[in-house]
Amino acid sequence: MIQRRKTRRIKVGSVAIGGDALISVQSMANTDTRDAEATIKQIHRLESAGCEIVRIAVPDAEAAGKVKDIKARVSIPVIADIHFDHRLALESIKGGVDGLRINPGNIGSRQKVEMVVAAAKDRGIPIRIGVNAGSLEKGLEQKMGSVPAAMVESAKRHIGILEDLGFSDIKISLKASDVPETLEAHRLLAKEVDYPFHIGISEAGTLESGTIKSSVGLGILLSEGLGDTLRVSLSADPVEEVRVGFGILKALGLRQRGIDLISCPTCSRQEIDVISLAREVEQAMSKVPATLHIAVMGCAVNGPGEARKADLAICGGKGIGVLYRKGEMLRKVKKEDIISELMKEITSIAKS
Ligand code: SF4
Repeated sequence: MIQRRKTRRIKVGSVAIGGDALISVQSMANTDTRDAEATIKQIHRLESAGCEIVRIAVPDAEAAGKVKDIKARVSIPVIADIHFDHRLALESIKGGVDGLRINPGNIGSRQKVEMVVAAAKDRGIPIRIGVNAGSLEKGLEQKMGSVPAAMVESAKRHIGILEDLGFSDIKISLKASDVPETLEAHRLLAKEVDYPFHIGISEAGTLESGTIKSSVGLGILLSEGLGDTLRVSLSADPVEEVRVGFGILKALGLRQRGIDLISCPTCSRQEIDVISLAREVEQAMSKVPATLHIAVMGCAVNGPGEARKADLAICGGKGIGVLYRKGEMLRKVKKEDIISELMKEITSIAKS
């Protein structure tokens, strides 16, 4: 059983983060925020994939001016990602964002920071301090002796600025593209503060390499109880980030959503084409809102055993598939009918 680190609870719009709240899955739109239509369309796709919080970049005044339109037409909380410019933060808050990602140490004068903090307090929205190993303060790594120690020091400086202004509606991210550095930074900071962590591996890579890196990095952090919300960063469609995020949480038993597919690695004993069948089942199931465990097994060796643990299972036989529901054999079906028969059962379970 994973023991989660005790963190204080904050809220991004309707989504609670920290405390005993479910670990939420976020993504970031990669459209041009100034193109509100494209951004809204992408956020709708992310919502359908289960994304619970979305971040949008606000690089200039035109983008900040679109926040209101975007907010009006999406249902999940929106976080504005801002670098340096306090006016963009103020404008985004006015537009109704549910959270800010801005580093107070980079805003400039104390007066500017005070303005942003006052507006965030007034609207009750949290601020994420986002420390990235790639953009640490000059000389900090040399001073602290290592990248993780420098990341923690940087986070503490930003936290200090907000706390001095009486602001504690904070979450923190410590991202590096190097997994061991990311792990170390979180372990160090967890000893010092109880603010919730937004976890992720930055610039993780493409769909394949980024999924591997994120799964290892986030998997270790989560298994150590570190992490209250996550974003998987991929050079891919952001919808994939959401799928991978849920996949990681499901693998650790921290969330249940959609299909949990068990499929055998295949060998010469297989009597059905497990690889294409598993892919078809996964695709078909991505549109089913129910949470189901499905097993696709190539032959009878491990099939019935796995079937006992699954809501539905299909095991290969000579020219046929054998369909099981909760370990009970339902019927034998022709190879070409396997998917349609499986979908019939899925629909009946989803309705019940
Ligand atoms: S379930 Fe059967 S086909 Fe699949 S890997 Fe095991 S022995 Fe091979």
